[in-house]
Amino acid sequence: MATKILAAQKRMFGNVFVCKNCSKKIRTQAVRIIAGKIKCPRCSSHAFRPIRKK
Ligand SMILES: [Zn+2]
Repeated sequence: MATKILAAQKRMFGNVFVCKNCSKKIRTQAVRIIAGKIKCPRCSSHAFRPIRKK
């Protein structure tokens, strides 16, 4: 079912961000990234990008 695939994609990519410094993947909500509440556990950076974008 299409809805199931969409849900899986959202689960895989929707809430995953990558640290711009060390490429650590972090699963969180986009609003928390935008609000600057998320810190990279490896390098303490606040710079993240969505995982899909190159
Ligand atoms: Zn990092």
